Amino acid sequence: MQNLFRAIPSVDASLAALHRAEAALADSQQTPHALLRDLVAAFWDNKRESIRAGACKNGEELRLEHQLPALLEFVQRGLRPRFRSALNATGVVVHTNMGRSVLAEEARQAVIRAATGYCNLELDLATGGRGSRHALVEELICRITGAEAALVVNNNAAAVLLVLDTFCKGGEVVVSRGELVEIGGSFRIPEVMEKSGATLREVGATNRTHLRDYSAAINENTRALMRVHTSNYRIVGFHSAVSLPELSALAHEHGLPLIEDLGSGSLMDFSSCGLPNEPTVPEVLAKGADIATFSGDKVLGGPQAGIITGRKGMIDQLKRNPLTRALRCDKLCLSALEATLRLYLDPEKARQSVPTLRMITCPPAELAKAARSLANKLRKGLNTQETLCEIDVREDVSRVGGGAFPQYDLPTTLVRIRPAGCSLTALKAALLETVPPLIGRLEDDAFCLDPRTLDIREYPDVLRVLRQALDTASRHTR
Ligand SMILES: *Cc1c(COP(=O)(O)O)cnc(C)c1O
Repeated sequence: MQNLFRAIPSVDASLAALHRAEAALADSQQTPHALLRDLVAAFWDNKRESIRAGACKNGEELRLEHQLPALLEFVQRGLRPRFRSALNATGVVVHTNMGRSVLAEEARQAVIRAATGYCNLELDLATGGRGSRHALVEELICRITGAEAALVVNNNAAAVLLVLDTFCKGGEVVVSRGELVEIGGSFRIPEVMEKSGATLREVGATNRTHLRDYSAAINENTRALMRVHTSNYRIVGFHSAVSLPELSALAHEHGLPLIEDLGSGSLMDFSSCGLPNEPTVPEVLAKGADIATFSGDKVLGGPQAGIITGRKGMIDQLKRNPLTRALRCDKLCLSALEATLRLYLDPEKARQSVPTLRMITCPPAELAKAARSLANKLRKGLNTQETLCEIDVREDVSRVGGGAFPQYDLPTTLVRIRPAGCSLTALKAALLETVPPLIGRLEDDAFCLDPRTLDIREYPDVLRVLRQALDTASRHTR
């Protein structure tokens, strides 16, 4: 084993060999030398591990000329940015793991402008004095939602925290037991509530809560009644919840505010597209919620943000809370949000230009056509000798994601790929390594692509990375 360790080339020799071997690493002239050194050292550390584990027994194998291709690949991999663009073929439109919403062209342009130069983020152009960043989008949000006032913070979790901290700290908030939800990434409503210093007063049973349950829970410590959208699950069967007008009447009778965490909070009525009729933000406010919070990057289709809408007096109180400073959005977010919201001034324009809305409302016939076209392209491009695949299309369903329209199926058509030369799991793994990676759906007998979340301009990339991954996967299978 000592001899094997001694056979490992020095870092300096490896660096010199790398530079000689690969002109592409000329790129590495711009790579900080220390980073390159560390990567080379890490490569040989891995080899030492293999020696210790008994996986490497041959000193000859360790020679630089044998290891150079592997070293080069390791270094190139290590130098790649960690943040990557990816192809979403899952059909899940609001995919939290994949960055949720794709921004509209107008929003992308706004971000570039905001990033490229200075701006009036907190400059009042009427006076030349200090302005408020909150004022930039407030009027627009009020116009679209019908709210008296609005405030935008970092995300909806921050919005919930800020609202509870401002109005309920040291007191009790009454919430139905059926609404104490955990959303992905271990965000639990009860835990956020506790962080705010408010005490949770759970009422009702998991499946049924009545008005009398809320009523009985109200006491001198009660600060608010709250409703939470049960985003990622749906209770079916024997269940009941209290309607918004009933609950707001009860809250107001006791001089308490009604707070609504809408989660996804849509501004559009999707029922004309065959989706269930979820209450929109304007409806919820009109029906008596005093505060309604929702995400900027779920069904709205904008940047990550938490939008708080509601009564002017309450929003003013939120603005004065020092926590608001810690939860504020930056210029990139606000510029993207304004540009996205401006599209909503004309709902039909929003439906066509906001990618999230376009994907959710895409007609099944159009998806079937897209699937056939993608399948043809793949059939032509993939069926070379080495990577023989069976490719067909089949009707299936997609999900909106992001806790919106839980368990609701959107009809789609999938492109199904059944490779002859490798396993489906090997193909899936190889697709994580391509540039860009392609994330699809693994079914029992096929790797599937849902055209709903792919742009037609991405099809050439889909073909290219599939060809590459099939090649890699079948080499590993052989
Ligand atoms: C998604 C969601 C949140 C969290 O929103 P973020 O914008 O991800 O912070 C909070 N409440 C509900 C009901 C949600 O669905």
